[in-house]
Amino acid sequence: MISTDSKKVLIAGASIAGPTLAFWLAKYGFRVTVVERSVFLRLGGQNIDVNGPAKQIVQKMGIEAAIRAANTGEVGLQFIGQNNQVTAAFPKEGAVSGTQELEILRGDLVNILYDCTKQDVVYRFSDSITALEQHPDQVSVTFSSGKIETFQFVIAADGVRSSTRRLVFGAEPVFTYLGLYTAYLTIPRQKNDNNWWRWYTAVDRRILMLRPDNQGTMRASVAFLESDEAYEKLSSTEQKSVLKRKLAGAGWEADRIINAIDETQDVYFDKIGQIKAPRWSEGRVVMIGDAAYCPTPLTGKGTTLAMVGAYLLAGELASHERYQDAFVAYEQRMRPYVESVQQLPPGVPWLVYPKTGLGVSVLNTVAGIFASKPIQKLVGLFTSTKSEDESRKEGIELPEYA
Ligand SMILES: Cc1cc2nc3c(=O)[nH]c(=O)nc-3n(C[C@H](O)[C@H](O)[C@H](O)COP(=O)(O)OP(=O)(O)OC[C@H]3O[C@@H](n4cnc5c(N)ncnc54)[C@H](O)[C@@H]3O)c2cc1C
Repeated sequence: MISTDSKKVLIAGASIAGPTLAFWLAKYGFRVTVVERSVFLRLGGQNIDVNGPAKQIVQKMGIEAAIRAANTGEVGLQFIGQNNQVTAAFPKEGAVSGTQELEILRGDLVNILYDCTKQDVVYRFSDSITALEQHPDQVSVTFSSGKIETFQFVIAADGVRSSTRRLVFGAEPVFTYLGLYTAYLTIPRQKNDNNWWRWYTAVDRRILMLRPDNQGTMRASVAFLESDEAYEKLSSTEQKSVLKRKLAGAGWEADRIINAIDETQDVYFDKIGQIKAPRWSEGRVVMIGDAAYCPTPLTGKGTTLAMVGAYLLAGELASHERYQDAFVAYEQRMRPYVESVQQLPPGVPWLVYPKTGLGVSVLNTVAGIFASKPIQKLVGLFTSTKSEDESRKEGIELPEYA
């Protein structure tokens, strides 16, 4: 066990990975500061699910009830055809469904994690790390506020574009662009909206989605295949123009989303790529979450990896004498799981983004077959809803740390 005076820890990033790690480290007696670059918690984003190992972790943290109470109310996933008809429906309670039991807005989860840690953890907003100097017994950190402070460890939990990672690992981790751009935005709810997650595939390799939330609005997302055009570097106004251009002529609710784009501040637009880092620690600095192993929303596992990584790293730090051994143990437990999650099925994302109307029809027909009762029944025979079973099936077991 690492001695008490060596327990001053800095975490960069107050989203999912950072506060989950802060919770467990504080529980194990560490003195934790979380530095967040934004002025407030960033509460944007869409519906995410908490299942398998992530569900086990929130149960251990005592926040399952709060997550349940913030459920988005989504009832399942529907595929919408080119004539606006439902071509396939996967209800939440079915054997196969995109909608999980614990479905929550990303922002609500961030809030819950913040609420359950703010008593025991120091949060510092509007600040970030600008320089790190590693010494044999500590790390000296310079902040953008000008402050200089020393910590025993620094953990980068500052997301896919982590600048803390860049300071320590330079260009070493590899960002693999998957040829896909995605935008998320919140739009007004209309009378004809319902509580299904509606998935519409348009020609020319575009997908539009609408999902309900628990706040009386709708969460829209737009995704399209394109070579790397560096759209993420454009101003917000320029990004909105790109989005409107991409949506033009897509059909279904495209015009409604186009009309909403100018009215909302809440547009998150980025290219989708995975982070594959050959190592996750260097001296007294270690990475977790998207900073270390972003799997992309295509896997639906970004939140799960962030929470599992946080749980394991904290547990290993609490149970090893030397931090070097803890970092090695964390990576040994976590890396095979990360590699299996990052392994995308063949043809993803290309196969689900057809170019032609014929391709769209084939895709909707296949979805219809999977949604049919006989197939759902068959799959149901092989599925379990127990989170421990799901974790085991995913190839990760969570040790009980003392
Ligand atoms: C605004 C937002 C919206 C998102 N929406 C979705 C979504 O709809 N669907 C989805 O699947 N995933 C979404 N994600 C990504 C999702 O949160 C992650 O994939 C996953 O939960 C892993 O979380 P993380 O904590 O590792 O990283 P992130 O959630 O990316 O959080 C990183 C945090 O670090 C902060 N930060 C960045 N740089 C610094 C710095 N230099 N110093 C200090 N703090 C810094 C950021 O402000 C952010 O709070 C979103 C992320 C963000 C930030």
